[in-house]
Amino acid sequence: MRDRESVTEIKPLDPAARRVLERSEIEGIELIRFLYADHGGVIRGKAASRARLAQRLGTGIGHTVAMMAMNMLDQLQPVEGMGPVGEVRLVPDPATFVPLPYAPGAAAMLCDLRLPDGSPWDACPRTFLREAIGELDRAGYTMLAAYEPEFTLGRRLPGDPFDRLVPIDDSLCYAAIGFDAAHDYTIRLIRSLETQGLRVEHYHPELGHGQQELSIRHAPAMRAADNQVLYRETVRSTALRMAMWASLAPKPIAAQAGNGAHLHLSLWDRETRDNLFADATDPNGLSELGYRFIAGVLAHLPALVALTCGSVNGFRRLAPRMWSSAYTCYGADNREAAVRICSPLAEGSANLELKPSDSSANPYLSLGAVIHAGLDGIRRGLDPGEAVNVDPDTLSPGERARLGVHRLPSTLDEALSALAADELLMDALGPLRGTAYLAVKRSEAAAFAAEDQAFELFHHLRVF
Ligand code: GLU
Ligand code: MG
Repeated sequence: MRDRESVTEIKPLDPAARRVLERSEIEGIELIRFLYADHGGVIRGKAASRARLAQRLGTGIGHTVAMMAMNMLDQLQPVEGMGPVGEVRLVPDPATFVPLPYAPGAAAMLCDLRLPDGSPWDACPRTFLREAIGELDRAGYTMLAAYEPEFTLGRRLPGDPFDRLVPIDDSLCYAAIGFDAAHDYTIRLIRSLETQGLRVEHYHPELGHGQQELSIRHAPAMRAADNQVLYRETVRSTALRMAMWASLAPKPIAAQAGNGAHLHLSLWDRETRDNLFADATDPNGLSELGYRFIAGVLAHLPALVALTCGSVNGFRRLAPRMWSSAYTCYGADNREAAVRICSPLAEGSANLELKPSDSSANPYLSLGAVIHAGLDGIRRGLDPGEAVNVDPDTLSPGERARLGVHRLPSTLDEALSALAADELLMDALGPLRGTAYLAVKRSEAAAFAAEDQAFELFHHLRVF
């Protein structure tokens, strides 16, 4: 009966909210998860019952401000403005409503964090990305983007002192037998992603034992970040329901290949819908705008990786000969370069691939920061210098210095120092978000430094 009451309360609502209520009823949804990503990169949320959904679509669900000061070990950090006093609202974007095929009876929506009066909260990650997209828009561009995540599929075995992730197979890189080991899981995953509107592009078993790569088609920037949240949830929850464990941690098993979430992106003309990164007259098929974007990303990269590779574990991955990049350089189809110009698959197509990017990042902060860095390159007309079309680690130190190629930070701590010193990015983050992010991430760096490798691996594969 309460359901019926709540539906009659829909009164004012915009058509998107109304559709959410109707679909919840038709599809028998009992719980609607209101999800967000925090400064630790963790996806968290609260859920509304269907009976309360009509109200909660308008008011959001109340939440403590302190949660944006929580690190990935659930250790609350002292951040001014994020103490025990104060409240924000998880306000869902009705356009993101999606029933969850892996959790029958549940649906999800991605949320903004808003102040009780409905205005955006300075520490809201989705607002950060929305503002970055707004800057692109004012410059006349729209962005298409896609995260390209890898993950490790296995079983979580009890261990002392920590559980272990035992990979599902030991198949070779791209080996056809690897398709079979993971087959039942993969098909279920694909069906689940497609049902949620995430278009699956490619799939293959990769180098690491149990490692899978399954990519999702590009989408407008906000949708791409929302997709990354839904993807992470689906990968992990599908495994859980099959008594398996999937981890998107950057390095869940120290001796195996790391899991990246390379970021593919391109800028398009808002009006004409032309790909502004494409230029058939350039040997790499990339426009001057594209080179400037690269230059901006490279100029900020040591700081940027504090956001795109946001965990202690992520820096175990960024090493030479891992195809994950270890230096600030770009190249044409160079898989050891931080920015790869992808060779066009079709005429007029062009996109860049950022390799130092992984699924422990908050996707909204990561993509927003990349946009700010790239726009800075465009605005200042920066030149990225020569393309590096060899493995940069094989160059002599002198040659790297001549090309302006530097080693990426080798720890999260180093990257955080670079971020704290990066005026553009700190300014874009703003004082509350910037302070909280640094506090949360510095606390993680300190907590893991005090423990051993097994502790680090366990906590990352548990959370991501
Ligand atoms: N696993 C590699 C990484 O950590 C990427 C390998 C590839 O797909 O090129 O980024
Ligand atoms: Mg791969």
